[in-house]
Amino acid sequence: MRAVTSSQGSIVVSDHEEPTGTGELITVTSAGICGSDLHLVASGLSGVILGHEFGGFTADGRLVAVRPTGECGSCPQCASGFPHTCREAAASLHGTSINGGLAEFVRVQPSRLVPVPDGTDPAIVGLVEPLAVVIHGVNRVPLIQGMSAVVIGSGSIGLLTASVLADRGITVDIVCRHPHQFEAAEKLGINAVAKPGVNYDVSFDAVCTQESLDACFNATRPRGSVVEFGMIWSSIQLKNQMMLKEISLVPSIFYSHNHEHNDFEDAVDMLVRHPEITNTLITHRFSLEESIRAFEVANDRQAGAIKVHIFSRM
Ligand SMILES: [Zn+2]
Ligand SMILES: [Zn+2]
Repeated sequence: MRAVTSSQGSIVVSDHEEPTGTGELITVTSAGICGSDLHLVASGLSGVILGHEFGGFTADGRLVAVRPTGECGSCPQCASGFPHTCREAAASLHGTSINGGLAEFVRVQPSRLVPVPDGTDPAIVGLVEPLAVVIHGVNRVPLIQGMSAVVIGSGSIGLLTASVLADRGITVDIVCRHPHQFEAAEKLGINAVAKPGVNYDVSFDAVCTQESLDACFNATRPRGSVVEFGMIWSSIQLKNQMMLKEISLVPSIFYSHNHEHNDFEDAVDMLVRHPEITNTLITHRFSLEESIRAFEVANDRQAGAIKVHIFSRM
């Protein structure tokens, strides 16, 4: 089968053995390229098929999205219903630790499969994972109708965050920089601004840099909250503004999935109810053979991409 890996910072499309072993064989339909993929490729990740945002069809024809994280099932974190903070969550992550979805086929443990209703556009499967990230982050802070929020950053995570907040009746502004981001926010019915206002109850940092975090602290009211998504790829300093305003800084990683709640199921539900999200966010579609170009576009800030998806079957 054809699959995508990286070596010394470059993308490689090549032949691989079809996956054998445990897990269900998934015929991949599509996979998204994530900002973290770009960081990992640049930092020299190798030896694994890329892609943690993906889904496809099971052998018996069911469309599924995939939760790429694993869990040991027995540590205190797993036992208390927070398996996303188990060591195994990242240590068995498809696309970084075990083979991912930028391939024709991948084997996935049945517990990681998330059903997608019949008749749904298969293109949604690659957006379920980033939306689950966002839903987890939004659930990390108590939000009630009438509250105000701002999202700093209008890439895919920012736009998805604003969409979830709007869906929950929260008044939300999203800070956009480029024309295509303003356009996307408009298509999603979200209020786009060039500069944040002040005194929001909650700010969401969908960029994770010093500049974006400082902007969040500026925009948040005293005793409000700042939710930090993603990974801190270069160190960030905390400043006294956080102390003087007594702002709660809330980190968010991965997604919850326990007996009471499953962010992936909520993400599927939201994408089914709002097809405009998929249509707006996936700005670029490539075939598996075109993956080198796809990564170039995802890396190019001038290309106007929000989400670049690679379709194993066009
Ligand atoms: Zn991702
Ligand atoms: Zn565990």
